[in-house]
Amino acid sequence: MSAVDRPNVRIDPDRLWASLMELGQIGGTEKGGVCRIALTDLDKQGRDLFVRWAKEAGCTIKVDRLGNIFARREGKDPAKPPIMTGSHLDTQPTGGKFDGAYGVMAGLEVLRVLHDTNYVTEAPIEVAVWTNEEGCRFAPAMVASGVFGGAFDLDYALAIKDRDGVSFGEALKKIGYDGPEAVGGREVGAFFEAHIEQGPILERENKTIGVVTGAQGQRWYEISWTGMESHAGTTPMEGRRDALVAAAELIVEARRIGSRPNGRSTVGVIENLPQARNTIPGRVFMTLDLRHPDNDELTTMDAEMRAAAADIAKRHRVEVAIEQIWHFPASPFAKELVDSVRRGAAQAGYAHMDIVSGAGHDACYVSRVAPTAMVFVPCKDGVSHNEIEDASKTDIGAGCQILLQAMVERANA
Ligand SMILES: [Zn+2]
Repeated sequence: MSAVDRPNVRIDPDRLWASLMELGQIGGTEKGGVCRIALTDLDKQGRDLFVRWAKEAGCTIKVDRLGNIFARREGKDPAKPPIMTGSHLDTQPTGGKFDGAYGVMAGLEVLRVLHDTNYVTEAPIEVAVWTNEEGCRFAPAMVASGVFGGAFDLDYALAIKDRDGVSFGEALKKIGYDGPEAVGGREVGAFFEAHIEQGPILERENKTIGVVTGAQGQRWYEISWTGMESHAGTTPMEGRRDALVAAAELIVEARRIGSRPNGRSTVGVIENLPQARNTIPGRVFMTLDLRHPDNDELTTMDAEMRAAAADIAKRHRVEVAIEQIWHFPASPFAKELVDSVRRGAAQAGYAHMDIVSGAGHDACYVSRVAPTAMVFVPCKDGVSHNEIEDASKTDIGAGCQILLQAMVERANA
């Protein structure tokens, strides 16, 4: 379908902004942020508001067994798989007004515009609210979209406990969002997620729209070095088995390995024993986080890191144990949908660029079962997961307009 077939509908940036600000008052903090933790009473209030607004826009509501909400606007052909968008309403304890909420409110604005203009797409349109994206109360993150995408079992998700021993299933029941629908297992024609970038690139490059080509793959490691403690004064330099020097060399190597195009590497934790100024360190524990948007490149980074660690261990006569504790494969998005977002941005005259998502999003798991793409808009100073998180009304509106165009295009394809 070409651009001329698109309906001449415009989203209302003022209404979108006003809805975001009203939603942001639920759990609003003194510093202008939001604390709306998953499956709390505040989460329920946010959900209730969304459900009310979606019903006012003519939608029917379904809730699945993990509390994922789907607001549906029927298409001319109800048998067609829905074109879906959505994000999450839960926040970090010191979160902002935009992370997640933007994607849900942008979807709501799409529903409102179609409702107001009586525009009926061929395929149905759905807006999803994914439960517990942040993972700060119930780990891991993105668990409900993960079950939808087949990455986790339903029973596993329902049994996850918070620090007070309350299970996900109990908390869900308490707020009345333990719905009857099966989680996933149905066809989705396409999934789009609008989100703030949560990084500095779009702002730095002066772009309004980030055309997200996929999300990074991640490998997390725990690495233990074992050398030999001995006297700092009596042990000559050449005979030492210094675990900390070995770890230090791997930190430098990891930096080199991560410094390829689109690569990332971070050593975030290091524990050195015995922490005595005149004893050679005998044991070191460290973590390593490697990321890349291309799975083959990430595999190469893994191999380079292991080879470097083995070489370092040999030279320093220490032992190294590397345990990969988590692997999240890269999620390349559907080319057709990514192209649609890029074309929409170009035709609308918005400055845009291709970008890889550095963070995980519900879209990453949904991409395992449905063609998926994302639309990013800049956020101020690249700051997110912080109460000062901010974005401009113009950019927020631009991203929503692109979302509307891409969804309508797919729904009529
Ligand atoms: Zn988010």
